[in-house]
Amino acid sequence: MHPYVVIGAGPMGLCTVRRLAELDIPVIGLEAHSDVGGLWDINSPTSTMYESAHLISSKRMTEFADFPMADDIATYPRHDQMRDYFRSYVKHFNLYQYYQFDSWVDSCEPEGQLWRITYHQKGKRHELLASGVLLANGTLHHPNHGNFKGRFDGIYIHSSEYRSADIFANKRVLIIGCGNSACDIAVDAVHRAKSVDMVVRRGYYFLPKFVAGRPTDTLGGKIRLPNKLKQIVDGTLVRLISGKPSAYGLPDPDYKMYESHPVVNSLFLHHIGHGDIKVRPTIAELTPQGARFSDDNEAEYDLILAATGYKLHYPFLDQAHLNWQGDAPRLYLNVFNPKHNNLFVMGMVEATGLGWQGRDDQAQLVAKVIRTQIDDPAKATKFADKVKRKAQLRINGGMNYLELERMAYYVHKADYLAAINNEMRELQLG
Ligand SMILES: Cc1cc2nc3c(=O)[nH]c(=O)nc-3n(C[C@H](O)[C@H](O)[C@H](O)COP(=O)(O)OP(=O)(O)OC[C@H]3O[C@@H](n4cnc5c(N)ncnc54)[C@H](O)[C@@H]3O)c2cc1C
Repeated sequence: MHPYVVIGAGPMGLCTVRRLAELDIPVIGLEAHSDVGGLWDINSPTSTMYESAHLISSKRMTEFADFPMADDIATYPRHDQMRDYFRSYVKHFNLYQYYQFDSWVDSCEPEGQLWRITYHQKGKRHELLASGVLLANGTLHHPNHGNFKGRFDGIYIHSSEYRSADIFANKRVLIIGCGNSACDIAVDAVHRAKSVDMVVRRGYYFLPKFVAGRPTDTLGGKIRLPNKLKQIVDGTLVRLISGKPSAYGLPDPDYKMYESHPVVNSLFLHHIGHGDIKVRPTIAELTPQGARFSDDNEAEYDLILAATGYKLHYPFLDQAHLNWQGDAPRLYLNVFNPKHNNLFVMGMVEATGLGWQGRDDQAQLVAKVIRTQIDDPAKATKFADKVKRKAQLRINGGMNYLELERMAYYVHKADYLAAINNEMRELQLG
């Protein structure tokens, strides 16, 4: 049998390789960088990490359940501790043997029932035939630059290129966007820049990292409220804890809690409240010296940093193979492809608090599906029929997710995990 090829050695690729190997499925991992860890290795050529980055979700809500982080690691570890954690994971589960490093995948093309993979390794081109391809090349690499009128002649960078607050030294800085990275970076800039302005186009729910000494994402414990009720209860709690964003001069959200990804940052509102960050509305146009805003105010900047998010990007594969609709491929459980039963998109999933364990659940199901394709083709055909019927189904727990690129592959965590576990049970039963 030809091997299955996993592209990427970030957390998603690693647990995928592990789960395939556990079921005796021949597997090869191809990774562009010289080691594992994905974007958590700031030295990887594909990393979008920055020096000050720490986990945004707390460690116990994020780790692999059967490979907990050490007790002496902080609740919100720094990026290099995460990289070390993934290296330990790979050593513990003996996964280095499956990977080829410095291996950039250039193309994946179907060839009969197989896939021809072309990649280059230190300037040398290689090809191999694969029984299947599992794309774990990450979702936060390819910058979405936004579309601004006008032209700015100063320094412009996207957050994907941002590494160190040194670039802000003594500069008048404008940060565009207000997601988690934007807020982290604004807090960095406060300590170095001459001034920090921030374009905030819409309202966000802001949460601190700790409440009453506990990581915020652990509050509520195992209590499972109906989704609509949870939106109301948690929305009210956030308001009690953080206050209304408008009290800080920020727009209030005009949507309910969980309809967009919340911002978790204990310092951002603090700095806004101290006047260290000035809030600006939408950009009307860039000017050679700065920007003009929708309220007709104009300001001059030395550096503009666009924290305007990322686009899904599978440059080595013809889009037609992925059943794209709008901003994302439409796949059953965000993984299974109605056009090809041996092409899997791994980790194209965002949710509040899915963590590595949610990704590992996904990997276990995919390994089980491949094993079923090998051992029990009739049962696998039934599953493939379901994939075709259900590819359009969005597991959103009844939430009206905002129509944003980022939300195009967002899922409701509890419902998503329940659906994965349900499929797993059905495949395990006769
Ligand atoms: C600043 C920041 C903070 C974050 N904080 C959190 C958090 O607190 N909690 C959380 O759950 N998530 C967080 N994330 C989200 C993050 O995407 C996930 O944590 C996780 O890294 C996703 O894992 P992955 O394996 O899917 O992708 P990645 O970690 O992005 O790994 C993808 C791998 O694929 C490789 N690759 C890409 N293209 C090719 C190619 N053509 N050929 C070969 N290899 C290729 C890359 O080199 C990379 O190693 C954060 C992200 C950022 C940027």
